[in-house]
Amino acid sequence: MAMNNIDNVKAFLPLEYFKEISKIPRGSGNETEIANYLCDFAKKNGLWYSKDENNNVFIKKNATQGRENEDAILLQAHTDMVCEKNVSSSHDFTKEPIKLVFEGNILRADGTTLGADDGYGVAIIMALLSDSSVSHPRLECLFTSSEETGLVGASAFDYSVISAKSLINLDGAEENTVIIGCCGGIRTELTYPLEYEQTTLPAYDISIRGLYGGHSGEDINKGRLNANTLMGNILSYVYEKAPIRVAKISGGDKDNAIPRECDATVVTSFPLCDIKDEISTYAKSFLEAKEDGNLTVEIKKSTTSKAFSEKATLDLIKILSVPNGVLKYRETPPILPKMSRNLARIRTSDNGFSIGFSSRAYLEPDLKASTDELDKLAKDMGATTHHHEGYPGWESPSDSSLAKAWAKSYERKTNTSPEITLIHAGLECGIITSRVKDLTAISVGCNVHDLHTPNEVMELDSFKRIYEVASEFLKDFH
Ligand SMILES: [Zn+2]
Repeated sequence: MAMNNIDNVKAFLPLEYFKEISKIPRGSGNETEIANYLCDFAKKNGLWYSKDENNNVFIKKNATQGRENEDAILLQAHTDMVCEKNVSSSHDFTKEPIKLVFEGNILRADGTTLGADDGYGVAIIMALLSDSSVSHPRLECLFTSSEETGLVGASAFDYSVISAKSLINLDGAEENTVIIGCCGGIRTELTYPLEYEQTTLPAYDISIRGLYGGHSGEDINKGRLNANTLMGNILSYVYEKAPIRVAKISGGDKDNAIPRECDATVVTSFPLCDIKDEISTYAKSFLEAKEDGNLTVEIKKSTTSKAFSEKATLDLIKILSVPNGVLKYRETPPILPKMSRNLARIRTSDNGFSIGFSSRAYLEPDLKASTDELDKLAKDMGATTHHHEGYPGWESPSDSSLAKAWAKSYERKTNTSPEITLIHAGLECGIITSRVKDLTAISVGCNVHDLHTPNEVMELDSFKRIYEVASEFLKDFH
């Protein structure tokens, strides 16, 4: 590729690396090849490197002249990507390179996720490591594996090798945002044992459809309805009119998504179809977000020969009415959710029902308060809970010299001030700052849209700009 001046070399270097890593299949759990590639890259550039059994790669670069006595900076990105494709795509994520499509300023893939999340981060760090024109202190660069499947690599890495006092995580999706905090999270499975009773009562199916859903962290404060808790409201409403017993219930799918659909089968002597419209009107009285405007509640006759006991039905209604959504807001700006819960998933089986919750909070005591409440609820009704391994939250000061220096470098480049904020979702910064003493962190990145879907696109000028901001930042941050 012809380069006519140093600015263009800088501008295009990360893109060249992005093209290279796009050739390497790197779905979560399949990171051996990308890890080996990064080791080869380090070798070729004469850099110190190591790789662990989880395919985390750690590369170090000496300070440029005169900056040997400054603290090291830790740069970090994850190597894995989400593999999603359109139904029409025959792409094999385990073998084939991502097919890049350039459309002016937009880079996308052909019918698949692009892997800009977090390939751009990997590419920017590689460019900073190989570009000899950038002034910087010692660089410690960590490329983590399997972020998308539960921050696996970051959790397993041995942080005793890190000496940096500042961490820049390059996994953001908006260039004008500097993230200084994220949520911790924990998933809870509540299991309710059950013996079904025979029944000859008329049965009805109740179906909730048309809700918008969204991410259970980042979208939790948008007023969108949770199909499972809405079903709880409907069951409770009907129960006030006449005794019902639930026979079956199924709602939600992914633990990190707000459930959009829920189905329940109930038995009752009350002619439920007669109050269809009334129930629908009742359900719609909860509507808040306009995205949920397509909500429908359908009731139709069904059949079943067995149902829960009355006690189990009432216990289910009680569980579905446990506080859900935003439980607490931060008291100081930015006013964002501080603690939240998502009743993500519910299923019945032959011997009971189980409910999956995900709790999020910045602070450990808030997380514990949420899981304690679920424990107590379960215990009181003879059910059990299992808490999966969680991950910690993180909050660095909004006026840290690190956040201010990044904001200043960004301002100089763009003439706009970035927003310094927190996100109500998990980031690897939470784990890393909990393992490395006195580490201040920010999470930044370039403009990437529709992450985790085949519509994922990256803005190329933003990619270039963030590389330049990162170079400026390294030059100026002492
Ligand atoms: Zn990511």
